[in-house]
Amino acid sequence: MKLRLDAVESEGALPESVRQTLENAFSEGRLPHALLFEGPPAQTLLLSKTVAQALVCENPAVRPCGQCPACRKAAAGSHPDIAVAGGSGGSRSFHKEEIAALRRDAFVRPNEAPCRVFILAGAEQMSIQAQNALLKLLEEPPATVQFLLTSENASALLPTVVSRVQRLSLQQAALPEDGGLAARMLFALCAPKPSALLYETAPLLRDRARQRATLDRFCALLRDALVLRSGGKPLLPETGAAAMAAKTLTRKSLFCALQLSERARRAVDQNANGPLLITALCAGLRDAIGK
Ligand SMILES: [Zn+2]
Repeated sequence: MKLRLDAVESEGALPESVRQTLENAFSEGRLPHALLFEGPPAQTLLLSKTVAQALVCENPAVRPCGQCPACRKAAAGSHPDIAVAGGSGGSRSFHKEEIAALRRDAFVRPNEAPCRVFILAGAEQMSIQAQNALLKLLEEPPATVQFLLTSENASALLPTVVSRVQRLSLQQAALPEDGGLAARMLFALCAPKPSALLYETAPLLRDRARQRATLDRFCALLRDALVLRSGGKPLLPETGAAAMAAKTLTRKSLFCALQLSERARRAVDQNANGPLLITALCAGLRDAIGK
């Protein structure tokens, strides 16, 4: 059985890695019982609805076919085995009562399809109590239930919840790569001129998506530099910047720089002021390496 995700592209390109993971798991009938799609709300919701439709579709070859009675009901939002829950939009507006209702439904046998699908849209809006209630369900899920969570920002979820779902990020769709900016930052960090790092990070100041992507990459490069310093094998394919940093900086400096960068990365998700954050990171990084 083949999964067809073409419809999702209308809300933005789906990263090839996400498409492949979903298609393979679906065709082999081993979709993880809980998936978390991270990315823009419209795109993640559309992806959830498409996967839900595929799970109830009756076409023997390609799902969702869009033509069978189950697909039509799913498209109309009236399929009895697909339920969509979500907050009203405000922070923590997704209450534990909704999860309690979902828990009752989860143990009821599917009506028509082989499984029941629960879409939890905007999961980061779940109250802590709601997340804890969901956690119990994720720990011992009924066999015939599929959970599809969406979130703009999965780091706002309890780590215990995130650890029990398979997380697929659609973020890189909007930003395929940072154009080598993370590597240039690392070269600039080791350069003698203090202004080099400020200069390289200027494009990041007001672009949150770019801050996320670049800091993710920058942290990965620092981790690679640490690994190279201890004689290990790096993870990233391009090792120029990491190798240079491994030669130039001490283990302690690299470690401090990594900690600072990881902290800054988390602050981006907590809506920190971009220009302040990046400028403070640059100063902190220079301090960390003793320059
Ligand atoms: Zn169908």
